[in-house]
Amino acid sequence: MSDPRGLLVVIAGPSGVGKGTVHARVRAALPESVLSVSMTTRPPREGERDGVHYHFVDLETFERRIADGALLEWAEYAGHRYGTPRQPAEEAIAQGRVVVLDIELQGALQVKQHDPDALLVFLEPPSFQELERRLRARGTEDPDAIGRRLDRAWEELAAGDRFDVRVVNDDLDRCVAEVLAAIEARRHGHART
Ligand code: 5GP
Repeated sequence: MSDPRGLLVVIAGPSGVGKGTVHARVRAALPESVLSVSMTTRPPREGERDGVHYHFVDLETFERRIADGALLEWAEYAGHRYGTPRQPAEEAIAQGRVVVLDIELQGALQVKQHDPDALLVFLEPPSFQELERRLRARGTEDPDAIGRRLDRAWEELAAGDRFDVRVVNDDLDRCVAEVLAAIEARRHGHART
């Protein structure tokens, strides 16, 4: 079997679908994987640390990074900007690692345009009602922000068929197993999933 290749894996899907839990499990199962730390203009939530959960920056800094070409992709989401730093991701891929991006729809599509080999995984909630319930139960956003995220969720759900793999996150173990199988297939050069 050929040596596994470096790979960009995008895990996208509407806010509240459980992307964080899924990519934490994927990373635990694949020691050679790394999570890309995004840059954002969103203020930190309680418990979030700069450089760990995000690189928290102001708008001016974010715009400078775009102008410098330092972001692999970026998008505006619910009133804030988010982007993937290019250098760490490209270095890790050159080392044969699996780089996991937890990003929204527009960014995911940009990644695919630049890197057709990237694996785009779309996580779907069991239902829209369940998504809304999870987002409210999480308690990290105020009602306005939840409304903006739910509006955006409709758009994201409609675009799921532009992804390589769609996985319903109803049973976490099965969902993670499906994502891992898709990664292994792509890394070892099997036919595209
Ligand atoms: P949150 O504010 O909940 O941390 O993230 C909001 C949305 O932005 C989520 O859908 C998350 O996946 C997405 N996101 C986080 N980092 C990036 C990034 O670097 N680029 C893009 N395009 N989206 C991101």
